[in-house]
Amino acid sequence: MSKRKTVVNGHRPAAPMSWSHGGWMEIVVGSMFSGKTQELIRRLRLAQIARQKVQVFNSALDVRYAKDHIVSHDLVKTPSIAVAKAKDILTRIDSDTQVVGIDEVQFFDAEIIGVCEKLAGEGRRVIVAGLDQDFRGEPFETTARLMALSEFVTKNLAICMLCGNPANRSQRLSGGRKVVEVGAADKYEARCRRCFKR
Ligand code: ZN
Repeated sequence: MSKRKTVVNGHRPAAPMSWSHGGWMEIVVGSMFSGKTQELIRRLRLAQIARQKVQVFNSALDVRYAKDHIVSHDLVKTPSIAVAKAKDILTRIDSDTQVVGIDEVQFFDAEIIGVCEKLAGEGRRVIVAGLDQDFRGEPFETTARLMALSEFVTKNLAICMLCGNPANRSQRLSGGRKVVEVGAADKYEARCRRCFKR
């Protein structure tokens, strides 16, 4: 594959078969209500405007919304493929996909790390979004490792719903003890470190 951009009649081809960068990983982390999915969708939209081929994946565990979309809390949505296991991404990825989006990465098994590394190693731009802390305020292992391995790390903060300070924790309001608890607005609140209760 040529790494040079071909110019046809003074214009770049609509969908180049190759891309000139070497692949990398970006991760957007934060608490609930910090706009992670919104930021992921924004980056994916910009890539689509540039006519790059984009594929989006989410975990089949994330059942808050329809299986074929990822949705931010402000209800902006984009089509996605729900997979049961991280490795399934490798069988569902198209060979010409340039940009890979992965939402709610903490729902995936630990193999997601190797999958992201492989996709970036193949020359793709991998954009991941997810929670960095669970409801106890403990780091999610998967997210923490991906933050270490990514070229670009963005940490979003929410606003504490009790005091209005910057919030980086997700307070569970009710429910069980499972670390991966699928929940939306009624089960969680964004809290700062002072207002957060374990
Ligand atoms: Zn607070």
